[in-house]
Amino acid sequence: MLSPRGCLTQCKSFQLAGWQRHIRDRAGIFIRFIKASFRSKHMKILAFADIHTSATAIKNIKDKAIAHDVDYIVCVGDFTIFGSGLLGMLKKFNEFEKLCLIVHGNHEEERKLRTACSQFRNLRYIHATTYRDGNCVFIGWGGGGFSFFDKAFEAHSTHLVRQVKPGDTVVFVTHQPPYNTKVDQIMGQPVGNKSFRKFIDKEKPALVLCGHLHENFNKEDMVGPTRIINPGKTGTLIDL
Ligand SMILES: [Zn+2]
Repeated sequence: MLSPRGCLTQCKSFQLAGWQRHIRDRAGIFIRFIKASFRSKHMKILAFADIHTSATAIKNIKDKAIAHDVDYIVCVGDFTIFGSGLLGMLKKFNEFEKLCLIVHGNHEEERKLRTACSQFRNLRYIHATTYRDGNCVFIGWGGGGFSFFDKAFEAHSTHLVRQVKPGDTVVFVTHQPPYNTKVDQIMGQPVGNKSFRKFIDKEKPALVLCGHLHENFNKEDMVGPTRIINPGKTGTLIDL
């Protein structure tokens, strides 16, 4: 028979065991939650290019984003006309009430767009940086449009790829298309960027979103495992 002291000790042991079990269970739930957060997850993107302040395009994109409940909207640049209407357009993007990832085209200035985007809670300017959601990594590089090479990109891309971990799904967001694909042809001649193409051949991102050439709106190509899309001004839905 237990003494009152012994009984108290047993009760405390029982309580302690209960708490240990409780903590273990809670820790298990937390670990499962963390693992789920980093696991490959289904993602829906609505990308668009070169809308150049078109009110019709904005309305179509907003309607599509709502109808398909997308996770992200991606703008690959040239949404203004030589920078005119920048703040007004960003205000409209912000009103989509979806996170909108943006790079500049040759119509927007990098510094102005970076500063302007920081004023809106739903906008993320991703030029020269990465944006991660779970195991999906967006790599952004805007501007340019008329050169075969981009030395600044070549130098900086080594820093960007350091953010990528094994098993990540990489989405490369540019304005100019990569060289020698179905999205960079003008009158049968490739006019895309060779620095981007070299990067794609080496790093093999899952997806490339680009614009710039209106002639190639809504065209797409495959380079090895990489899907390359000019989403056009009507916007293209992509499941990742
Ligand atoms: Zn352009």
